[in-house]
Amino acid sequence: MTTRKIPKKPPLAEVSIIDRQDQTEDLTLMWIEKPEGYQFKPGQYCTIGHDGVERAYSIASSPHEKYIELFIELVPLNEGGVLTPILWGLGKGDKVTIRPRAKGIFTFKEEKSHQLLVSTVTGIVPYVSFIRNYLESDRSGHKFYILAGASYSDEFIYDKEFIELSEKYPEFIKFIPSVSRPDEEKNSGWSGSTGRVNNIIEDKINELKLPPDDTMIYACGNPDMIEDVKNRVTPLGFGFLEERFWKDD
Ligand SMILES: Cc1cc2nc3c(=O)[nH]c(=O)nc-3n(C[C@H](O)[C@H](O)[C@H](O)COP(=O)(O)OP(=O)(O)OC[C@H]3O[C@@H](n4cnc5c(N)ncnc54)[C@H](O)[C@@H]3O)c2cc1C
Repeated sequence: MTTRKIPKKPPLAEVSIIDRQDQTEDLTLMWIEKPEGYQFKPGQYCTIGHDGVERAYSIASSPHEKYIELFIELVPLNEGGVLTPILWGLGKGDKVTIRPRAKGIFTFKEEKSHQLLVSTVTGIVPYVSFIRNYLESDRSGHKFYILAGASYSDEFIYDKEFIELSEKYPEFIKFIPSVSRPDEEKNSGWSGSTGRVNNIIEDKINELKLPPDDTMIYACGNPDMIEDVKNRVTPLGFGFLEERFWKDD
């Protein structure tokens, strides 16, 4: 009788939280230790946990950075959140578990010159890694257009970084944040784009003169936004890639 070898599961590593910086009441940036030898491609996600509860988080940092940077939105307990209310009680020096391998196919598709990166709130995370890695690798030849949607302007947590980059590299980075509730008090003084990113996507494609045969459109975050963007852009002949952070109920 032949015995089949069962592959050994690599042990779950425990890593420390290096820092946590709350951005709003329900948005936080967290840096965690990177286990030795941990590898990932920009756009992939890690799986972290606490007390046996594990969830996926896209990685904002670039592979060359020392720590793993995460941008997390709290789903409160009364809205069904499980791990995020636990994470909100943790801080610098506390431990989380991390699965040994990063996963995901929502990665940079270099074959297209134009890269339209569409997100809602935390959905911007993979693009932060794409662009940091692209700049670090000293590459050229691509154009990145970051179309970031949120209800309120204080939810564009990476706006400072992307505005600075778009000023430094105007020929290949364009940052287009859009608020969906422009009339609300919290958005007073907002002078950028308005409207949900899915509703303004065709206008942006036209303004930017994006050629369908040489443009990759990515959509990440809210599943309703992704579904709508997909339905609008795929009939136009654009390449399309998606990462849904949660499922519709
Ligand atoms: C590939 C992948 C990458 C992800 N990357 C990130 C990331 O970078 N940042 C991040 O904050 N989350 C990310 N998520 C979502 C994350 O895995 C968790 O689902 C989320 O943090 C909530 O965890 P929870 O345990 O508190 O609630 P869960 O038990 O996971 O979910 C509770 C309920 O809330 C819904 N839900 C989950 N997230 C949200 C949300 N943001 N807004 C509204 N409803 C939501 C779920 O569908 C479910 O109905 C990612 C998910 C996937 C699949």
